[in-house]
Amino acid sequence: MTVYIIGHKFHFETENLCRMFYPNSDIHLEYEMNDVQGEYIITKMNTVDGNTVLSVNASIDGKTENSERTLDVYSDSEAEYNLALCLYDCLIKITGYTPAWGLLTGVRPSKLMNRLIDENGEENAKSYFTDKLLVTESKAQLAFDVAKAQKQIFAENRHDSFSLYVSIPFCPSRCSYCSFVSHSITSSNAKKLLEPYIENLAKELIITAEYAKRNELRLESVYFGGGTPGILSAEQSKFLIDTVKNSFDMSYCREFTFESGRADTITREKLLTLKSCSVDRISINPQTFDNGVLETIGRKHTAEEAVEAYLLARDIGFESINMDLIAGLPGDSVEGFKNSVDKAISLGAENITVHALALKRSSNLVTKENAALSQDAAASLMIDYANKTLSENGYIPYYMYRQSRCVGNLENVGWCLPGKECFYNVYMMEEIHTVLAVGAGAVTKLKAPHDNLIERIFNYKYPYEYNTGFNTLVERKNRISEFYSTYN
Ligand code: SF4
Repeated sequence: MTVYIIGHKFHFETENLCRMFYPNSDIHLEYEMNDVQGEYIITKMNTVDGNTVLSVNASIDGKTENSERTLDVYSDSEAEYNLALCLYDCLIKITGYTPAWGLLTGVRPSKLMNRLIDENGEENAKSYFTDKLLVTESKAQLAFDVAKAQKQIFAENRHDSFSLYVSIPFCPSRCSYCSFVSHSITSSNAKKLLEPYIENLAKELIITAEYAKRNELRLESVYFGGGTPGILSAEQSKFLIDTVKNSFDMSYCREFTFESGRADTITREKLLTLKSCSVDRISINPQTFDNGVLETIGRKHTAEEAVEAYLLARDIGFESINMDLIAGLPGDSVEGFKNSVDKAISLGAENITVHALALKRSSNLVTKENAALSQDAAASLMIDYANKTLSENGYIPYYMYRQSRCVGNLENVGWCLPGKECFYNVYMMEEIHTVLAVGAGAVTKLKAPHDNLIERIFNYKYPYEYNTGFNTLVERKNRISEFYSTYN
């Protein structure tokens, strides 16, 4: 499909909106109209008698729709908004589909809700979502509830706060829906990369701790994520956790999370090690409790093993356990997903994070098994069930985000029992303080202490590049001090 951007500069929002309706189509942008043919959307801004005219003309699936709006007074934001309304109107008519999140294409609805509450008050913030952005009442309420749940965490945040993210981009095998850079540890190449990777990671931790100290930053939370950090042996985990604890000032650290991940990596010895290292929050991610679905998506563990891993962690004394579930997995049914939600609740997991399946172009599912792409309607019912049931069982939504190409344009929501919020998830998703990130694929996000400016430092994406380009990568960390001396 070709999308023409004529006479305006709103290509980013235009493309995002088109992707909401056509998440898996090839969308090609053109800035000049020469030979228009095939399926197309022409978005146009021009001036007629001193007024700004915004128009959309779309021809897709043998259907044609037009929409036009006129502004007497021009402003960039009004022009962008009105062009989006024209496009939205045409695409709803062509597809018969109305997105629950309306015109909102951003990945952080609760961040926007928080800002609007601060600027205009609670009621105006909610009505901006429903009246201006055309978000449904229930999604607006969800974003509002998340913003409310974060209030205390925001209040306790300081200008010098930061969190630490440690990336372990290795997994026991690759799940078919995954688009993450993670390496399957079953390949001999990946195995060879792991030892030097751990050594470099420890060096990067020590260097990063120096920057934190030099800039008088205060560590609030640590998160080992992946990939599957659970692939590390007990000794490797201990070595890295000890490196963190010996290098950083842990005096104010409120939370230490280790995403064990898949049940096929979890053993009593590893969990005991984490516990003895004062890890206070772990994640065990079944994704579904349906063995058929687990097999379809290439997870090499059963639902029973996920339950066993959970009970083991409980037995060892972990008091804050997260379980991830995914709505819209291929082969899953609404009933199957409901069972998974019920199971996670019945186990008493303090945190249950419900994701909507996101299919990225690099996942095996998109390239091989397009079966998942018709799951939108079912996924929507699944998410509705999760939201209702978790809420009825005392869970509150406390962080959320959206991804492109998610089934049904749905959202990912972290639910928790009151008082069991994962601080790191809120800090990171709402971008309220700096996250210093180490390891392959990690992205440090520097947040200016006194305004909302964010700057990113990218590490190499893959472990091989990370190991070979380590010295260059370390040089990039100088930017941490430059940033703080500029913005402090
Ligand atoms: S465990 Fe997670 S990161 Fe690893 S392959 Fe599966 S989905 Fe991807």
